[in-house]
Amino acid sequence: MRELDAGDLYRELATAIIQSDQPTPCEEAPELFYSEAIGYQNALDTMRAKQLCRFCLVSKQCAAYALKAEEPFGVWGGLDVYDRRALLRSSDQPHQVQ
Ligand code: SF4
Repeated sequence: MRELDAGDLYRELATAIIQSDQPTPCEEAPELFYSEAIGYQNALDTMRAKQLCRFCLVSKQCAAYALKAEEPFGVWGGLDVYDRRALLRSSDQPHQVQ
């Protein structure tokens, strides 16, 4: 079976958002998810966005898409760009056989 690509996962995310029939937190407060603030305020915005993702009905699909697409900006599925890079790096590591 073919592995899902970023386009497939984006369509799954879009479908899940439509089916949830309610606005996502990032639709209501996009300035937190793509904060243009500097320094401490940026960290606060990002932390708040990540908290809001916890209550989002599509966070699983959102994170899956962002990881596959290697989204370079913003908070997606409770993950900021540093979280996503760390997860992608760890998944690149060969698994050791014990
Ligand atoms: S999980 Fe994704 S869709 Fe939901 S609030 Fe977070 S960034 Fe937005």
